[in-house]
Amino acid sequence: MTSESITKGADLDTLRSVDESYCMPTYKRLPISVVRGEGAYLWDDKGKQYLDFFSGIAVCNIGHCHPAVVEAVREQVGQLIHVSNFFYTEPAIRLCEKFSKSALGGKVFLCNSGAESVECAIKIARKRNYSKTGEGGGRIVVVERAFHGRTLGALSITPQPEKQEPFHPLHEGVDVVKRDDPNALEAAITDETIGVIVEPVQGEAGVHVLSDEFLSTARAGCDKHDALLIFDEVQCGMGRTGTLWAYQQTDVIPDVMTSAKALAGGLPIGAVVARKEMGDVFALGDHASTFAGGPVIAAAALAAIGVTDDEEFLSNVRDLGKYFGDGLERFVNDGKATDARGRGLMRAFDLPEGESASELVMKGIEEGILFNAVGEQTVRFLPPLIVEKEEIDRVLEFVDLNIGRG
Ligand code: PLP
Repeated sequence: MTSESITKGADLDTLRSVDESYCMPTYKRLPISVVRGEGAYLWDDKGKQYLDFFSGIAVCNIGHCHPAVVEAVREQVGQLIHVSNFFYTEPAIRLCEKFSKSALGGKVFLCNSGAESVECAIKIARKRNYSKTGEGGGRIVVVERAFHGRTLGALSITPQPEKQEPFHPLHEGVDVVKRDDPNALEAAITDETIGVIVEPVQGEAGVHVLSDEFLSTARAGCDKHDALLIFDEVQCGMGRTGTLWAYQQTDVIPDVMTSAKALAGGLPIGAVVARKEMGDVFALGDHASTFAGGPVIAAAALAAIGVTDDEEFLSNVRDLGKYFGDGLERFVNDGKATDARGRGLMRAFDLPEGESASELVMKGIEEGILFNAVGEQTVRFLPPLIVEKEEIDRVLEFVDLNIGRG
């Protein structure tokens, strides 16, 4: 029998040392051992409370352990955990219908993560091209500093050299265009293009809202050259920007949309929906995943969408988002920040040269407030969508007191 170094209630130092010995060193963890979450708050092993404006990277959109999700999981987990897609299960089929009716209205493929949903979208674009031409290949247009995931296909269309460098060869045929340069985008889409993929609001790049003009150019280019327009809503979807899907606040409807992160209220999921005309690109055996659409995850997702897809809920996200955005904008007007950006409750601001976003994150931890840095000077906030105005005030006050000190 193997013996473990960790017993229940192990302290942070023990976790740290066992982590160092046994976990691959891919994550830079913050110095907190989290033991509990409820609503907008987390608690560490010593009972310290944290206001969570990070939401597990835009996963816990309806707050930690939302009762509707907990209840749905509890009920399902005692009934059926796994059976595979060799069988019909009610939660998975219901989820496909609900997700489709909430976005694009076409057919759905369920999977387990954001990267997997992106892989699936790439395969749809490739298969569609193959069915049309009888050949493989084709080019994909992506936006500078986009983030679409870490698996090899998703990494190939994530134009961040520092992430790609050690993992070549990646997929060929990727054309990168500058963010919000519609002319460059128009020129990049050609008859060789099989797909254009964009995050309507870029997340990891530092919360950049792509302009309607840029998105409309993408749509027009795809129509002209018969390419697929793919919106990656893994981070900006599920109510984050104040509508269930971010594309619903643009003039553009994509052909394919990916989702993941918040879709199952905190449990691992991914999903892809394609417009009706594209829904039958895949044929039997073209794509599959053992765990995809498992009953517990699907039940959780049905509950999470149920809470989020509510006009009153979403209108509150828009109101609070504006309030938060106005607050961050004031730092720019006061000369304490150089830019503030975002939509809904997906927000970021840039500190002036010489001030460090990571230092602010560490001060936040001391103060019991969690958020993260997405660049040397860029601070990102992803509060749960159930956040209260007073909690936003607390964060704004904290930031105000801790920036602009040169
Ligand atoms: N796409 C976007 C826009 C993302 O923000 C992310 C993750 O941050 C991904 C894809 C990859 O998702 P996952 O980490 O679940 O594979």
